[in-house]
Amino acid sequence: MSLLPIVWDARYSPVFPESHRFPMAKFQLLKDWVDLHVPKTRCYSPTPCALEILTATHHPDYVQGFQTGTLDQKAMREIGLPWSAGLRDRTLLALGGSIKTCELAREFGLASHLAGGTHHAHYDRGSGFCIYNDLAVSARYLVSQGFASRVLIFDCDVHQGDGTAAILANDAHTFTCSIHAKKNFPVRKVGSDLDMNCPDGMTDDAYVSLVLETLDAVIASWHPDFVIYDAGSDVHVDDVLGRLSVTTEGLYARDYGVISRIRGLGIPCATVIGGGYDKDRVRVAARHGVVVRAAQAVFAQD
Ligand SMILES: [Zn+2]
Repeated sequence: MSLLPIVWDARYSPVFPESHRFPMAKFQLLKDWVDLHVPKTRCYSPTPCALEILTATHHPDYVQGFQTGTLDQKAMREIGLPWSAGLRDRTLLALGGSIKTCELAREFGLASHLAGGTHHAHYDRGSGFCIYNDLAVSARYLVSQGFASRVLIFDCDVHQGDGTAAILANDAHTFTCSIHAKKNFPVRKVGSDLDMNCPDGMTDDAYVSLVLETLDAVIASWHPDFVIYDAGSDVHVDDVLGRLSVTTEGLYARDYGVISRIRGLGIPCATVIGGGYDKDRVRVAARHGVVVRAAQAVFAQD
């Protein structure tokens, strides 16, 4: 029986204001959902990301400021999350979780993180609920360890991956591709190696075709040897911050299509959940579960 490696930790959901727009409880609820709906998984616990790995991608002063809770109010406002020791600890732990997921993907071909996708974090500042950029940190880690030399970051979160694009702009070992809603946050986008803009209200067929054709084109032209897939569920029609009209079936078609193409070529693939927003935390957790369900289906056939 093939068990899909997943990475998660109970500390991903620390005590947090219940009414906050960021649904911190969703990580626990996602694990509950996966246990119920995707039983053929094996869960691994992460270790916190080492500071020397973190500072290979982020400015040491920014890291020091966040770790000690001494960032100024403006910097914390831009992040949009209230600082606490629990938030600090879960942030380093989830960053370590994305790295662990990449290591497992290297070993098993495919692995899924039940967190990650903090693509708005820049070199020296956080933004849009993102503190450190796990996509950039993980890609740099893979290359520095000799685990990969051409890492594709395939970002399907509904928001543009501005932080990842900025951090990795001059990195020849990475390719950043963002497929997002044109009119959504961030207002000031930073050019990725490839950006695809989606019109408001885009529906399943047009959206899934765009994603899969874009992936095929990037793989054919750039030849990645590792893919980090940000499967943001905020493209969903019911997401409160998305502007697209993708159904749960469309989400599954996207995730299954992306992962099966990558694995069909024998390329290791690590998935992260990206963004997803809903007042109903159980519903948003279920939408994040779609990528795990799709990954498990691909893994079982590998
Ligand atoms: Zn998003």
